[in-house]
Amino acid sequence: MHLKIITHEKVVFDEDVEEIYTKGTAGEFGILPRHIPIMSALDIGVTKVVQNGKPRYFTTMGGVLQFKDDEAVILTPTAEDGKDIDVARAKEALARAQARLVEKNAEFDAKRTEAAIARALARLKANMNN
Ligand code: ATP
Repeated sequence: MHLKIITHEKVVFDEDVEEIYTKGTAGEFGILPRHIPIMSALDIGVTKVVQNGKPRYFTTMGGVLQFKDDEAVILTPTAEDGKDIDVARAKEALARAQARLVEKNAEFDAKRTEAAIARALARLKANMNN
């Protein structure tokens, strides 16, 4: 089966894979070839694919997955190949967001802070596994 991961900016991945595991808003799920057609909203997290028997990890920061006729498309605002992650940047983003969580000053936005933490953790996870 085939998987495309597409963001506003670019096509992050466009290759054949054997297995797909991702994080939907209702929980994690996997897709194997000949799966029935599905459409699912995605959460901020890591999408794992198995290609030639080996795992590869990508961040997928929300959006939607559509699967039909052995073709999967993930449309997501931001995605990265785990091996391209700038780990120092992700750690800094995590520390900044965690500091906001502790300070909770006048501009504190819980949803935005939670999303920033989720993105940073997804980046660190996708990089660590690669
Ligand atoms: P930061 O606060 O470090 O900018 P962020 O979560 O706010 O992190 P995003 O708005 O999600 O960043 O992403 C902006 C752009 O920067 C995207 O193109 C994304 O792929 C890229 N990007 C963000 N963080 C990293 C990272 N740690 N490694 C590689 N690319 C990153």
